Amino acid sequence: MKAVQYREIGARPEVVEIDTPEPKPGEVLLKVTAAGLCHSDVFIMQLPEDQYTYGLPLTLGHEGVGVVEAVGAGVDTSLVGQAMAVYGPWGCGICERCAAGQENYCLRAAELGITPPGLGSPGSMAEYMIVDSPRHLVPIGDLDPVQAAPLTDAGLTPYHAIKRSLPKLVGGTTAVVLGVGGLGHVGIQILKALSGAQVVALDVSDEKLALAREVGADHALMSDESAVEAVRDLTKGRGADLVVDFAGIQPTIDLGQKVLGVGGDFSLVGIGHGAPTAKVGFFQSPYEASFLVPYWGYRQELFEVIHLAQQGKLTVHTETFSVDKAPEAYGKLWDGTLRGRAVVQF
Ligand code: NAD
Ligand code: ZN
Ligand code: ZN
Repeated sequence: MKAVQYREIGARPEVVEIDTPEPKPGEVLLKVTAAGLCHSDVFIMQLPEDQYTYGLPLTLGHEGVGVVEAVGAGVDTSLVGQAMAVYGPWGCGICERCAAGQENYCLRAAELGITPPGLGSPGSMAEYMIVDSPRHLVPIGDLDPVQAAPLTDAGLTPYHAIKRSLPKLVGGTTAVVLGVGGLGHVGIQILKALSGAQVVALDVSDEKLALAREVGADHALMSDESAVEAVRDLTKGRGADLVVDFAGIQPTIDLGQKVLGVGGDFSLVGIGHGAPTAKVGFFQSPYEASFLVPYWGYRQELFEVIHLAQQGKLTVHTETFSVDKAPEAYGKLWDGTLRGRAVVQF
């Protein structure tokens, strides 16, 4: 089968021919229909050798959707033929965190060597993939696979980050979205669908700002120092009640801190290189502000995100590519020239 692999430190991903896997007891074999590309893929492919821990060769893809092709011993055979999205942050399934659906924070994943598909385990950017347990599948029904694949991360991650701040986002409040890429443009829609906040989107390119307006941002502004005063004006001096930083680089963290209001939440989702940091303390951060560093989302939250999409409340803007064109798609993600999410369609 064809697979898109990262094979050598510093090299670009390649399309290769590898053996089709077979499901072991307890596992599920999925015939992949769509796989999304995430900036985190680029992040790990830019890591120097001494910081790279994901194994080589690595079949990429941590956003995946497919149809169950076969199941291993002990797995319900009625799953065969069903269209499923893959919940990616795999955990052990039995610790206290996993019991609450919080497999992204599994207490034993590291100890047991459990890694997400595409981030250690073979991922979804291949004609077939192994899912370690049917517990990590969410039925998508009639949802278009190209829509559903990005929802497993570009939908789930902003959903998780925003959901916990919803009690603060009543009418009259403001949410600032930094970075209107794959995650950010879905984040804007989640805020509009679930909260009473006005949404101010900040990015560095006019195309991304146009996308922000298209998906419902109330204001879309250049991400530079001028945004500080603009947000102050738009909030009548109150500042933002939530800042979600989908870039996670020092300039966005610094800007986000400047626009955050008293009691606001700063949710750092983006993972920038060079360990960028936020300043927390008297005269450095607003009174009673909270700083959060969320990772992916909970298992039941993926059901919730899929339901929102099925109700027409979330639409992922996608650029689709064939598997052979996946390296080109990665090139566009690298260069920042994608609109929305790139999805490989099988
Ligand atoms: P993307 O490349 O699609 O989007 C990034 C956006 O940030 C682009 O629109 C870009 O123009 C914008 N940007 C760059 N510099 C900016 C600036 N100074 N101000 C404002 N915007 C700026 O990436 P993505 O796939 O949406 O991922 C976003 C980030 O989230 C990445 O760092 C990724 O690694 C991370 N991520 C984290 C999690 C998590 O669990 N915390 C999950 C998925 C992705
Ligand atoms: Zn991701
Ligand atoms: Zn666990």
